[in-house]
Amino acid sequence: MKAGIHPEMHTVIIKCSCGAELETLSAAEEQVLHVDICSKCHPFFTGEEKFVDTAGRVELFQRKYKKFMEAQQQSESKGE
Ligand SMILES: [Zn+2]
Repeated sequence: MKAGIHPEMHTVIIKCSCGAELETLSAAEEQVLHVDICSKCHPFFTGEEKFVDTAGRVELFQRKYKKFMEAQQQSESKGE
């Protein structure tokens, strides 16, 4: 791996809205990530027919991510 271009990886806890928790490696800043669905409660894995409301989720994420990127750019320019 090239030094200096990879984000730092660390352990994060992923918490699902169904209550399931799992540990994984991520470059995300958060120590805990909240998700709406996981392999324990997704209908594909449970075999259940369940209505999953994901409307607006992508847009929500994009809005959040845009904010995050802007904040990061600001802190980067401040450091120079
Ligand atoms: Zn779940």
